[in-house]
Amino acid sequence: MKVTEHIAQAKDTLISFEILPPLKGKSIESIYDHLDPLMAFKPAFINVTYHRSEHMFKKRADGSFEKVEIRKRPGTVGICAAIMNHYNVDAVPHLICGGFSKEETENALIDLAFLGIDNVLVLRGDAPKNETFFEPHPNGHRYAIDLLQQVTGMNNGIYLEEDLVEGVKTKFCIGVAGYPEKHFEAPNMQNDLEHLIRKVEAGADYIVTQMFFDNQKFFDFVKKCREAGIKVPIIPGLKPLTSKKQLSVLPRIFHVDIPTEFSNEILKCKTDKEVEAVGTEWLIQQSKELKKAGIPVLHYYTLGKPKVIQQVVEAIV
Ligand code: FAD
Repeated sequence: MKVTEHIAQAKDTLISFEILPPLKGKSIESIYDHLDPLMAFKPAFINVTYHRSEHMFKKRADGSFEKVEIRKRPGTVGICAAIMNHYNVDAVPHLICGGFSKEETENALIDLAFLGIDNVLVLRGDAPKNETFFEPHPNGHRYAIDLLQQVTGMNNGIYLEEDLVEGVKTKFCIGVAGYPEKHFEAPNMQNDLEHLIRKVEAGADYIVTQMFFDNQKFFDFVKKCREAGIKVPIIPGLKPLTSKKQLSVLPRIFHVDIPTEFSNEILKCKTDKEVEAVGTEWLIQQSKELKKAGIPVLHYYTLGKPKVIQQVVEAIV
């Protein structure tokens, strides 16, 4: 079922989760172990992130180094199929521009359609860790909107190799990313919002936001989107802060602000266990307020912290 259908049929705020494919070599059991405790909350859907390859240097027998491309977390499509089969829940694969040609993307979308997957979250992706700027694949997409147009094209029966394909119309419900605190590369909020409007005009069915720790930033963002004529559902992305290190890591990587009151509480903690308790309580309060405001879905980035998410969801259902 499509994410938008889940929202349309819901009587209360829905819950959804996001997971990462395990590191290469780990089994699907690690996904089930992660999700098992969370399935009691009947998530409407589960997102699975997508990861591009990274450049690494591998030592040759003669001692010299060879530059190789390694995908540390492959398997998004297969994991989505396994989750749907194992739990009978909708899976939402992420698709990214970075590192993939249009042909590879088309093949991934054909596989997803075969598997009966109704949703995709389309994203640009970031530059690999050891590169400064995002560079598209020579035969790939530069922006999420370009990837989105490939998906809407297939939803209209348009494929890259028209003469080879019978033109079956796929039916993907398409999500895109939004940034309550602005995407880090955008010169200003207005400019970023204009690009988001274009994604919606090009066919995005809903928006999922970057994480935030101050609900007011989300409410202001939703207000700006609505004033700009965006009518599609806006789903808040929520993440627990569970270690002191994250006070600097999260702003550096995700370009989000940690409210003073919250960071002061964390700085008082002596152990990461104490930080986790403060972070859990903060997320519970954020979730309660968002739920009270009638937000359609609370989307939790579970990233290795299923027990914390369990405590949070238990406190709000
Ligand atoms: P875009 O919408 O393409 O925007 C990127 C930047 O370009 C923005 O600054 C925007 O304002 C600007 N822009 C957009 N269109 C244009 C245009 N036509 N001309 C000029 N400027 C333009 N990354 C992964 O690698 N894998 C994942 O699974 C993943 N999941 C994510 C899930 C969520 C909910 C979010 C919020 C992010 C996720 N990311 C993921 C990270 C994401 O890939 C990065 O934030 C990336 O830098 C931007 O992606 P985007 O889809 O927002 O890009």
